[in-house]
This record gives sequence, structure tokens and C-alpha cells, in this order.
Amino acid sequence: MKNIVVIGAGTMGNGIAHTFAQTGFKVNLVDVSQEALDKGLKTISSNLDRIVSKGNLTEAQKAETLANITLFTVLKDAAQDADLIVEAATENQDLKLKIFGQMDEFAPENCILATNTSSISITKIAAATQRPEKVIGMHFMNPVPIMKLVEIIKGYSTSQATFDAVFEMSKSLGKVPVEVNDYPGFVANRILMPMINEAIETLYNGVAGVEEIDTVMKLGMAHPMGPLQLADFIGLDVCLAILNVMYDGFKNPKYAPNPLLVNMVMAGKKGVKSGEGFYDYSESKKAEKVSKMFLK
Ligand code: NAD
Repeated sequence: MKNIVVIGAGTMGNGIAHTFAQTGFKVNLVDVSQEALDKGLKTISSNLDRIVSKGNLTEAQKAETLANITLFTVLKDAAQDADLIVEAATENQDLKLKIFGQMDEFAPENCILATNTSSISITKIAAATQRPEKVIGMHFMNPVPIMKLVEIIKGYSTSQATFDAVFEMSKSLGKVPVEVNDYPGFVANRILMPMINEAIETLYNGVAGVEEIDTVMKLGMAHPMGPLQLADFIGLDVCLAILNVMYDGFKNPKYAPNPLLVNMVMAGKKGVKSGEGFYDYSESKKAEKVSKMFLK
């Protein structure tokens, strides 16, 4: 696999494009607007600067990485020679089904179609295509250039050949792939999201404040980041969408999103990406603190 297409230039898409491009793959990065693409490329460039400043990359390698990325607003143009497409668009089932229908139509017959979805059924997404055996989950963690884990999720129809190819490809990116079956939330979010939801419930019940809850989990459980700050970093809208998928999928009230989370998302408080969530990121110092914690 040489030619990679990444769909979505947001939090995850730009990190995925960065990782492939830095490893030497040609990446066509697709988003709905030039503005979203420019923002994504700017983030990649400043993340590369940070790696250069730490002495882990040369200026020439940074330039090569950026030269490996081409920006597109039209999927049909981007997908023509694709060997692997990784979809990292907004976590919305109808949107993903539509995008997979288009990927199936525009990508070459042999192209593998992967999704970075946090929770939506791979089997359902695969059913929107004529090649369900070539559809797979490739669930990267945030921030992608730093985090080693990739959950490789087999849908009901995913072939062993597709699984093996994506598993090996993930290793070539320097990642550690883990085999997972297709049930709501997979492994990472099935365990993480109830913890985040419980932290929000603890706040909602007035048991402790935001910083107190995060401090307990950081110092008491040796978590590098408290659950509320982590939720801000993931995106509160993404957390809500994942909890709703698990709630619908298992029909179990233990996954019901806390009303405070629902209210915050309705009010546009989505965490780091909107400038405010459980913390205020409008002061540049605080936002800096969050990214530095992940870039040690
Ligand atoms: P985001 O909101 O930061 O970015 C989504 C991007 O998709 C936006 O730039 C948007 O313009 C673009 N988009 C929407 N419709 C599109 C279309 N039709 N074609 C091309 N681009 C389109 O979201 P994100 O946090 O990057 O999440 C992306 C995916 O990754 C979701 O499925 C999410 O569940 C998953 N994920 C997120 C995290 C996280 O920590 N945020 C971690 C793992 C997986």
C-alpha cells in the first residue's frame, strides 16, 4: 500500500495524515472546505515544528513530510489511485454511511476502506458498500503522532487478508495494533467513556469540583490526565456521540450520557476545540499546558 487517502482534516484526520506522511506515504487529505484543510495542515506543520525542536526530526524531513500531503475538497479526485482510505470525518452514523457509499464508488476495486470511528458498527458501515470484506476499523488514539495504540476492528464480514494487511501497515507506522471484535465502543471507549461519564456525574452531583476530580484521578490512579480534562481534549461532542452509540447498542442505562454533558454540547462547549469545556482554553497558557502534557 502506497497511496493513502484520509477523509476529514479535524483533530484525528490531521494526526493520521501527519503519521502516514512522516512515515513516507503519499497522503491525499480530504475535507469539505478549503478552510478546514488549511487549518489541518497548519496543525500538522506546528506539530512537526515541535518534533523538530526536540531534535527528533530535521527541517528537511519536515519539508518532505509536508510535501507528501496533498489537499482535496472532492473525494472523487482524491480517491482515484488509493490503496487505503482512512475515514476520520465527524462521528455521525448517517454521514459515515454516505461517505462509505462514495468511497466504494470512487476508490479502485482493491482499495481497503478503513474507518477511525470511535464507536459506530464496522459491520453496519461495511454494509453500505459492495466490498464489506475490505472494510475495517482502524481506531487511532489522540494525539495520533504520539499515541502508539491502534485498535484494529474486524467487522462481521472483514476478511483475514484485509485484517492482516491493515495490522502490518499499522506496525510499519510504528504503532502497536490490537485485534478487536466489532461491538459498541470496541475496547478503548467501552472502558474509557463510562469512566468519563462517571466523572461528569460526580461533578453534576456536587461531590467535588472539576480540578478536584481530575487531581484525584491523576495523583490517586496515576492517570497522566484527569478524566474531565481528557474529555475536553477528546471533544465533548465526540464523548456524547460515543456514549449514545453504546446506550443504543446495549440498551443498558449504565451508558446513558449525563445531562450535564448533553447540556454542555448543546451550548457549544465542546472542550479544547471550541475554546471551552470543563476548562477554559481562551488563555493561551492553559491550552499550552494540555498539549505539553501529551508531548513529553
Ligand atoms: P473533528 O470534528 O475534529 O473533525 C471532523 C472533520 O471531518 C471536520 O474537519 C469536518 O469538516 C470533516 N468532515 C465532515 N464531513 C465530511 C465529509 N463529508 N467529507 C470530508 N470531511 C468531512 O472530529 P475528530 O475528533 O477528528 O473525529 C473524527 C473521527 O475520529 C470520529 O469518527 C471520531 O469518533 C474518531 N475519533 C476521535 C477521537 C478524538 O479523541 N477526538 C479519538 C479516536 C477516534
